[in-house]
Amino acid sequence: MKINALVAHTATSPLSTDQIALRPLQQQDVTIEVLYCGVCHSDLHMARNEWAVSRYPLVPGHEIVGRVIDVGNQVSRFAPGDIVGVGVMVDACRECHFCQNQAEQYCEEGFTPTYNGIDKYTGESTWGGYAQQVIVDQDFVVSVPDNLPLAGVAPLLCAGVTVWSPLRHFGVKAGDKVGVVGLGGLGHMAVKLASALGAEVTLFTTSPQKGVDAKRLGAKQVVVSHDAEQMAACQTSLDLIIDCVAASHDLDPYLATLKTNGRLVLVGIPESPHTSPAITPMVFRRLSISGSSIGSIKETQEMLDFCGQHGITSDIELLSGENIETAFTRMLNGDVKYRFVIDIHATRWSR
Ligand code: NAP
Ligand code: ZN
Ligand code: ZN
Repeated sequence: MKINALVAHTATSPLSTDQIALRPLQQQDVTIEVLYCGVCHSDLHMARNEWAVSRYPLVPGHEIVGRVIDVGNQVSRFAPGDIVGVGVMVDACRECHFCQNQAEQYCEEGFTPTYNGIDKYTGESTWGGYAQQVIVDQDFVVSVPDNLPLAGVAPLLCAGVTVWSPLRHFGVKAGDKVGVVGLGGLGHMAVKLASALGAEVTLFTTSPQKGVDAKRLGAKQVVVSHDAEQMAACQTSLDLIIDCVAASHDLDPYLATLKTNGRLVLVGIPESPHTSPAITPMVFRRLSISGSSIGSIKETQEMLDFCGQHGITSDIELLSGENIETAFTRMLNGDVKYRFVIDIHATRWSR
């Protein structure tokens, strides 16, 4: 069956409507009518081939909320009518140490990404959520709490879990002092989730005008990162920092704000590397730099349940699919409050 989707045909052409064929429904599969799909900065990196791994045609979108409309005959966890989510992964080897221990995002074979991966049934590309439907194995589908506005849930499937996973893995608890760098899609979810876990959050931003929003979202203090005085005032004050910036930058000013034993977690994946950090402060204050990749299916469900209990969703701007390029441009300029979400039903699929 063919459906409409927003397709990138080359790294330089704008996304346009085209038709794609989904794989035939397998026994373990769920067909999902996409309602909303968040616009992650990774979608922009991929559409423009900034990581040099894109294969075209490419349909981005890995923050999917939708309604189940069909299930394979071995599906036990979902039924037509259920509201569900799909994030960045749609499969993994299921046998390696990490898959066996519910950490599929670190699958030794590499997980199958929701788009630009290889579909094991067809040998062709996987297609993302900038589309009317997706077909996904039930093990990679999560349940959406029924008390949350659905458009605001979509960004939780990538932005939310990508910051939730390191907060949990590194044991952030009430009273910890947590820094967040960059108030974009990931960063604003980090502010919300860390403060809901009881941490005292400091937001570092290049955009002073975002300060009021940051405090509304839960930050205790806001530091403008190019203001040397403000940076000096928070030296050696933080336990853990989550760096959500989508561009290469100097890490040293942030390392200086960590306490001894502090940790800087990098989740942003810029097109070009950060400059190397200065070694001496890392050695003499036993600092760590970590990366972190999205989150497992288990963590995604935990995060959604936590958001349901605490009434947390993403702050979004809803758009119709025809306006995706405007959204990309504004995202490049750091002008997003704080996640664009495509309303798939409102999209006019003109070719
Ligand atoms: P986003 O919404 O565009 O937010 C990025 C924020 O970084 C901006 O709002 C801005 O905040 C700050 N920034 C400062 N200088 C910048 C610059 N020169 N260019 C761009 N941003 C700059 O992006 P996102 O969707 O949150 O994604 C952030 C990064 O995480 C991307 O690289 C994305 O690919 C990556 N990512 C990683 C994972 C993972 O598994 N690790 C998952 C999803 C996304 P201020 O205005 O406050 O300074
Ligand atoms: Zn993403
Ligand atoms: Zn595996």
